[in-house]
Amino acid sequence: MNINIVCPHCLKETIVEKKASYSEENCTACGESLLDTALIEGNAVILDNYITHSQLPVIVDFWAPWCGPCLQMMPNFTKTAQSMLLKAQFLKINNDDEQSLGAKLQIASIPAVLVFQNGKEIDRFVGAKNSKQIQKWVEQYI
Ligand SMILES: [Zn+2]
Repeated sequence: MNINIVCPHCLKETIVEKKASYSEENCTACGESLLDTALIEGNAVILDNYITHSQLPVIVDFWAPWCGPCLQMMPNFTKTAQSMLLKAQFLKINNDDEQSLGAKLQIASIPAVLVFQNGKEIDRFVGAKNSKQIQKWVEQYI
């Protein structure tokens, strides 16, 4: 089965075959590897692009540079993203830079991690988790 995803390099839609594991997978638009970048810095436009075009769950970490628990969780979130390449797509969004998006999504406290599927938010958690906890949470939606 083929699925549409968004390339983390060119941000265009590309197609991958759904597999249990991947050894090599390149973007059909730009040719870059889809296995070398797990987590990208997003914004409102990029998030909209991902949730509109990706058939994988889109996992978004809302954070800010002054937020201790956010900084504490970021390496865990990055690690989870790297271990779940092409199972889900991961973004981080600076909530200070994207305040209108944060307001629209009712982000009251950070870190807040949201999962989108078929264009809609289906779940979220608030507060820091370790990488195992994040992975377990994401696995519910795969
Ligand atoms: Zn690409």
